[in-house]
Amino acid sequence: MMSNSKNSTHHHAKTACHECDLLQVLPVAATQNVVCCRCGALLHRAPGDQPQTSLALVLTTLFVFALANVFPVVGLEVGGVRTATTLLGTVSQLMRQDMLPVAMLVLFTGVLLPGIELLALLYLLLPLTLGRVPRGFPSVMRAIQMLHPWGMVEVFLLGVLVSLVKLAHLAQVHPGIGLWSFFVLIVLLATSASRFDAALLWERYEACRAIR
Ligand SMILES: [Zn+2]
Repeated sequence: MMSNSKNSTHHHAKTACHECDLLQVLPVAATQNVVCCRCGALLHRAPGDQPQTSLALVLTTLFVFALANVFPVVGLEVGGVRTATTLLGTVSQLMRQDMLPVAMLVLFTGVLLPGIELLALLYLLLPLTLGRVPRGFPSVMRAIQMLHPWGMVEVFLLGVLVSLVKLAHLAQVHPGIGLWSFFVLIVLLATSASRFDAALLWERYEACRAIR
């Protein structure tokens, strides 16, 4: 096993590499990144990197999520009359046009699920950062991993872009702050997803529980 950890701990745990399945010994209290000796995959992230960094990322993402929902996604101009619509405004318009399934799809994949997932992450990360144990940690972790594949902000955005192209010849279309926020939101959500390390959160949870 290749470890750049300086402290020689007496406690060791065997772990299988999540990339190549090689079984190797992992120091329990490794203070630095530990990588697989065969394929170089990150087996253990140095403490300090999380959960503070994850918390900062979640707070930033929540802020951009709020911007994306508060500000108009598009402004339409027909014969000098300008209307601007937010994401929720689009949902209610779709409902009035008897397009309930599409409205629900936009509402769930674009607003509710990403919002619930971000709030659930905040609920876990805020106490863990302060060394406290969030109530119901195991159930919330399971819920996050179950909900995650269904939050598809990018699918919603694709829908908006398609309808913009269709509307372009009927009305003057002005992209709003909400639309730009959605682009940033997609990048932030992808970053959060790639950084989300369930094993590390569980480790932190066990550590906080041991202190009590
Ligand atoms: Zn490996």
